[in-house]
Amino acid sequence: ERGRLSRLRHTPAVTLDGQKIELLANIEMPDDAPAALKAGAVGVGLFRSEFLFMGRHGNLPDEEEQYLAYRRAVEGMEGLPVTIRTVDVGADKPLDESRRDEAHLNPALGLRAIRWSLSEPDMFRTQLRAILRAAAHGKVNLLIPMLAHGGEIRQTLSLLDFARAELDNRGTAYGPVDVGAMIEVPAAALAVRTFLKYFDFLSIGTNDLIQYTLAIDRADESVAHLYDPCHPAVLRLVADTISECVRQGKGVSVCGEMAGDTQFTRLLLGLGLRSFSMHPAQILAVKQEVLRADSTRLAEWAQRVIESEDPAALMAA
Ligand code: PEP
Ligand code: MG
Repeated sequence: ERGRLSRLRHTPAVTLDGQKIELLANIEMPDDAPAALKAGAVGVGLFRSEFLFMGRHGNLPDEEEQYLAYRRAVEGMEGLPVTIRTVDVGADKPLDESRRDEAHLNPALGLRAIRWSLSEPDMFRTQLRAILRAAAHGKVNLLIPMLAHGGEIRQTLSLLDFARAELDNRGTAYGPVDVGAMIEVPAAALAVRTFLKYFDFLSIGTNDLIQYTLAIDRADESVAHLYDPCHPAVLRLVADTISECVRQGKGVSVCGEMAGDTQFTRLLLGLGLRSFSMHPAQILAVKQEVLRADSTRLAEWAQRVIESEDPAALMAA
């Protein structure tokens, strides 16, 4: 099985009816780029930049260190696009183990991801400058985690303008970036049209979208049995986000675990998804599903699945 899968590495991911599917890698460090290439990824769909920030005991990476790390990831992908997500700490990813017990009553609902970045605007602008500079070395997309509110969107984009102006004033070279938002909170999925007014593309973070839709802490073992990617409400939010992007001709990807789970490949294809980002180890298995899929036939089936009371049963049938 492994040998057969590895022969698929250089086979383009195209469905039986000729739809080209983009299979991208999720990475945590620049050194993960070679593994992504080796797995046959056509780019990085999610570089979780927070791993550069964690376990530093308050000594966060400066602009130069970040720039060199992002540039290394970009160069490591040898001309393929790299989507860099701004820092997503808090909740399940504390900056330091020692801070885990800081008084956050409910870290998943607290100061995490973009909320933390907007509360530390100097830190955030430093990261934005480093990413813009890395974009001078290849195709870089900038991705913002966990936005929910229009005010956060506008504040984020104005800090991005500010970061560009700082680089201009310094005479430092930088490149163009497409800017995208993660859809991880039900509010964002429901306000998808507002998001599309401001962003070039969206990326659906199903790990958090499931957590927040079902009110199930993704890190809490005692409720893990209720963490259900097949809940009709979750599938409705995913489906509507994809279809609005498709309708408007905007890029949309899924970068949560669902994208790398072969049980969901056919459903996501049927919902119109053409871009999947996952752990590199999953790429060949998902590609195998893509090669066997007929997206036109799956489209009708997928609508029946998401409208059903028990989607998991229909998917298994
Ligand atoms: C997600 O929430 O689906 C996601 C990709 O982000 P993370 O798992 O890093 O929170
Ligand atoms: Mg997330």
